[in-house]
Amino acid sequence: MSEPLLEISGLHTSFDTYDGKVGAVDGVELTVEAGKTLCVVGESGCGKSVTARSILRLVEKPGSIDSGTVTWHGGEEPFDVLSLDDKDPRLQKLRGDDIGMIFQEPAASLLPLRSIGAQLIEALRIHTGMDKKAARARAVELLGLVGIPDAERRVDAYPFQLSGGMCQRAMIAIALCAEPALLIADEPTTALDVTTQARILDLIRDLQARNHMAVMFITHDLGVVAEMADEVAVMYLGRVVERASVEEVFADPKHPYTKALLRSVPVLGRDRGRDLPTIPGTVPNPLHRPKGCSFHPRCTEAIAGRCDLDEPPEVVFDGGRTAQCVLYDDQSEGDRA
Ligand code: SF4
Repeated sequence: MSEPLLEISGLHTSFDTYDGKVGAVDGVELTVEAGKTLCVVGESGCGKSVTARSILRLVEKPGSIDSGTVTWHGGEEPFDVLSLDDKDPRLQKLRGDDIGMIFQEPAASLLPLRSIGAQLIEALRIHTGMDKKAARARAVELLGLVGIPDAERRVDAYPFQLSGGMCQRAMIAIALCAEPALLIADEPTTALDVTTQARILDLIRDLQARNHMAVMFITHDLGVVAEMADEVAVMYLGRVVERASVEEVFADPKHPYTKALLRSVPVLGRDRGRDLPTIPGTVPNPLHRPKGCSFHPRCTEAIAGRCDLDEPPEVVFDGGRTAQCVLYDDQSEGDRA
């Protein structure tokens, strides 16, 4: 087993709204191992992106990180990111040097009034200390590396002059410019066509192999998970409800939510003439979290009088995989048939 690079424990992040405090992340526990890919999956509104932003303390008001620890093991000594002072140099180093982040919707994340080259050169100068000339040369090199053709010319292009795929590649170049130990990719391919998506995934895999970089990949696309993941964390309503290797999740999912997600993936030939199964209902409003297991109103395996009353325990199986579900609470070892 690899060394842990990042450990999240008991993370709670919430947002103040006119209707009350909304708990978007509710006690998340996750570990990212050096050089490996952790995919975080779940429907929209499950807290995946807020968890990612909490790691770098990028949650803006009215949001707040209320409790928990985010331990970074990539330095000389491990430290808790959440307890650092805002001006602590370790926090500045973490943002961009140690951890690169690709945000959703690159066109909205890149500054529209500055060329992609200017944005990349600025990142290079801040994170690597290069002078302007060296940073420009490196920017052209990086844009070529992420597959932008004619990088010498495109380095001076503005985001609005580039396609969505090109902007995403520019974002990846910025995120990778300091050769981070961890890349957080928040739905990096959602808005892209399938051909560009495949190219971006190949690119991330290539760069990961080259730099032994860990990747935390946030997605709701189980096809992407099958291609990219070593480990999978399934989130529901701000909590991790199942953690396992990618092989375990696809061959033997434990949590009914994971099973339902997998059932709703179309399989060529299998679903001909049938409606694709869906998960009934929607993710509840965290302001009105259901009592007991928060998935119980949508769960086809719910046990009346139990799942609607008691919080399910986290069960640890042989090999270390986990599931939060009462179906397994009489066993902490061995799998139920
Ligand atoms: Fe379904 Fe009950 Fe398990 Fe929740 S605890 S996932 S409701 S069986």
